[in-house]
Formats: sequence, structure tokens, C-alpha cells
Amino acid sequence: MTRTTIRSISLILASVLALFLFSCAKTEDAPASTGGNVEWTPITDTEKAPETSPATEGESVPESVPESVPESVPESADSSPSAPAANADAPLPEGDVAPLALMYHLVLDEPYSALEDLFVRPSELRGHIEALLEKGYTFIFADEYGSYDRKTVIMSFDDGYVDNYTEVFPIIKEFNVKITVFMISNYVGCPEYMTEDMLKEMAASGLVSIQSHTATHPDLTTRSEEALRTEFETSNAAIESITGRKVRALCYPAGAYNELVTTVAANYYDFAYTTESKTSTAGYPLLSLPRLRIHRGFSKEDFLAVIP
Ligand SMILES: [Zn+2]
Repeated sequence: MTRTTIRSISLILASVLALFLFSCAKTEDAPASTGGNVEWTPITDTEKAPETSPATEGESVPESVPESVPESVPESADSSPSAPAANADAPLPEGDVAPLALMYHLVLDEPYSALEDLFVRPSELRGHIEALLEKGYTFIFADEYGSYDRKTVIMSFDDGYVDNYTEVFPIIKEFNVKITVFMISNYVGCPEYMTEDMLKEMAASGLVSIQSHTATHPDLTTRSEEALRTEFETSNAAIESITGRKVRALCYPAGAYNELVTTVAANYYDFAYTTESKTSTAGYPLLSLPRLRIHRGFSKEDFLAVIP
């Protein structure tokens, strides 16, 4: 090889590396995982009150009925809404129950950051699933929100950490229950986050729905309308190209939203989830649905004591 060839190859390699590093670079809201000496910290979706009162429902109320339940979903894990999706202004029909939504992040025995609270132990997750099954809950996806004639639960995992594949996926397959992953689309394949192949496999199983947690995990309340559109469009397109399924649900980074955010989000999503911690979503607008925050150390007994 000539020197010029070697120089050209080096340049190409350097460019590819730069592109990779750039694409995995975190924004100011998302501490970087690192190759360097900086200790990595998972993104925190700390609770944050909305800047304005939650937006009222408008044209964004979906007609209901999930578009497609994956064909491969085993019958026991399947579930269909019994009525149109809940509307904040209209109480649920008598006998119907609003879903319980749960918020998880990481599931690992050994926390690798100071934010230990976010690391639920695999044994604890098993206990939670057992508790939910014992209480008669049916597991539904975040985009299957609606009023049901039985107890339903939306078990969701934020950010898209790799343990969702290595730890959570085997457990939910064992119990045959459904979960939703709110993926930060620009972090697919980045260190500590799931790869495209992992997401494909999970989505294809019929037990995992991949929904949006935006493209770059910014504080949406500081963004312009155009920037919000870009976040939602980029994220949806990336996830849909991986799973082959339409993205219909959003999870606000750090639970932060305001009226502009919900107004723009209504053009892209039927449902949006916050970090407000509640044991029921009853009475909440479809674009600001609360989720019970699950902590490390939360046992099956604790869980049984808290959930309805
Ligand atoms: Zn997050």
C-alpha cells in the first residue's frame, strides 16, 4: 500500500469513528456514557411538574382501538379495549377501569451509577409481575391505553438501556407478559443502550412495544415548535423503521411538558406519559398520563400493598 492509500484509509476510519462518537454524543440533558474517565450516569427522569396545567383534550382524542395487535402475541397476553380510550372530561363507563401505568428504567442486581434507585433488581421485577398476575391484571402496551372491563397494567421502561434486553426480556418471556420500551431513538446502538437487532427481536416477539422517548432526550419545554416537530418526527421514523410498527405513544423526557409540547405532540401521538407518580391513570388527559414510579428495593409485598 502506498502512503497515500494508508492516509486515505486512516482518514476514512477517523471519519467513521467521529460519526459514531457524534451520533452517540449526549445532549446537555443527557449525561454521556463514555469512553473517557467521566463516570457515567443514567439519564434521570426525575419528577418535574408541568409548566402549565395539563392540556385539555381536543382533536387529539383517538378513535380508540389499537391499530394492530401483533399476530404473534399469545392469547393470554392479548387484550382488546372494551370501549373508546378514556377522555379526561368524560368519566369511564360504569364497571370500566383505567389502566395502571408503571415506570421503570434499569433492571440489574449491581448498579453501575450513583443513581442506585433506578436499578430495580431482577428478582424484584419478577415479584412485581407475580403480584400483578395474582391481582388479575392484564398486561397491555402503552399504545393500547383505553378503558377496559378488567384491570390492566402498562409496564414501561424509559430510555432503552441494554439491560431491558439482557435482564427484562427473558423474564417477560417466561411470564408471557407485555411491556413497553420508551426508546431515545438517537441512542440506539450507543454504549449502554440497546442495539437495532435487540429492538427488532423484542418487537418481533409480540411481547414488547417500542415507543418514543424523543430523539435526543431534551427538556421539551425549552424547545421551539419546529424543534419539537423534529424531535418527534426523527424519533418516530427511526423506531418505525426498526420495528415496522407505527409509533403512537410518547414519554416526555424527565416528565417535562407544557401546553406547546402537548399541542405539537398531539399531531404525532395518541398517548403521552409523564413521571407523575400515581396508582391510577383515571381522569387524566391522554397526553399527560401518570405512571407509578418503581424504585430499587420495592418488594413484591410492597407492590401488593400499593397497587389497587
Ligand atoms: Zn428518560
